[in-house]
Amino acid sequence: MDLASRLDALLPLWGICAWDASLPLRETRAPAPCPLPPAACLVAAFPYRLPEACYPGRNLSRYAVPPDYHRIVGARLAAAGAALAERFPGAAFPWFCDNSPLPEVALAEQAGLGRRGCHHLLITERFGSWVFLGTLASSLPAAELRLALGRPAPGPLPDPCENCAAGDRVPPCRRACPAGALEAGGFRRERCLSFLSQRKGDLDSRTALLLRRAGTVWGCDLCQEACPRGRAAELAPLPEFTAGLRPRLEPDCLDPASLTGRAYAWRGRAVLERNLSALEPRSTPRQPADQKNSAGDKISADAPEPIDKEPPSPV
Ligand code: SF4
Ligand code: SF4
Repeated sequence: MDLASRLDALLPLWGICAWDASLPLRETRAPAPCPLPPAACLVAAFPYRLPEACYPGRNLSRYAVPPDYHRIVGARLAAAGAALAERFPGAAFPWFCDNSPLPEVALAEQAGLGRRGCHHLLITERFGSWVFLGTLASSLPAAELRLALGRPAPGPLPDPCENCAAGDRVPPCRRACPAGALEAGGFRRERCLSFLSQRKGDLDSRTALLLRRAGTVWGCDLCQEACPRGRAAELAPLPEFTAGLRPRLEPDCLDPASLTGRAYAWRGRAVLERNLSALEPRSTPRQPADQKNSAGDKISADAPEPIDKEPPSPV
């Protein structure tokens, strides 16, 4: 099997770009020594979305349902790096997956894997945005790698958001975001439930309410679910992402053995306990059925608790 075919077998979607826009490797936490300087980057995307029947009772983002993707992606990248090193003795190909400040989405765009969508995630033609990204640094220039691997420089890709963001229409991803994190001007990470569910410390009441409404303990998929590119995506997960699925986190699954090897464990047990309790109904005393509010309206004991403040409009 030639080298490009070996890479195809390990990396479902991959491309090459120059290193220019990236950061010095000394600023990263590489898992392997980096006797470089890097001249190019091989970027790979790993699809993970499964049929919906695989997610019964899900309260975790889809990416966190299989075993920790860092290990799976890392093993494939390491094997691809070894295959490259065989062909190019003396060169090193250290891999990265969320363990460096490399701008992975920007590099994936340059490598021709897709374009960033309005929801701030990479959209690939085949797999939508349901992909993990990983990178291999290379001391060989992009032109040399492309020649050896028969992979020409990518041409410009069409804007995936062109149709649904045209004119004055509010795109589906922005309409679906409950937190106002997607604005016309860009992505507001500090509002995003995916970011907030992973942040340590106390939850403010608004974030707790949003998590509860979204029914999520970890992460948020709402913008991706609403995206037509995501809905039409091919379901072609790697086999490693189809076993050991845990779509639902329960309070009795927080012991060290249960948390080992799960992507949602990296911030520790306390964050998960906090998020789980945000999903529980408030423990305040129920109101009598005939109690009236200040406007004189009857309050049902089963009515949802009042909302302090509506989430800001996403537009
Ligand atoms: S992940 Fe959720 S909160 Fe974050 S931008 Fe998407 S819909 Fe909004
Ligand atoms: S919903 Fe439309 S605008 Fe938003 S990311 Fe998807 S394609 Fe782009």
